Amino acid sequence: MTGDEIEVCPACDSSAITSRSRSDHDFYCNDCGNMFDDPVVRESNSTGGWSPEALLERAAKSEGSP
Ligand SMILES: [Zn+2]
Repeated sequence: MTGDEIEVCPACDSSAITSRSRSDHDFYCNDCGNMFDDPVVRESNSTGGWSPEALLERAAKSEGSP
């Protein structure tokens, strides 16, 4: 593994977290507003395949339904 890891919110698994200093909690989630000390670290490229292309494909399918 190349080890391309990202830090995510432990509550909602969002990578939109902001590191804060000199506060009670070190990190703040911009998505759910959770504040926490230690983020969850996981690989950025999950095996699920939520690539932009896959998302576009899903959107196209949902729009195509009558
Ligand atoms: Zn969150």
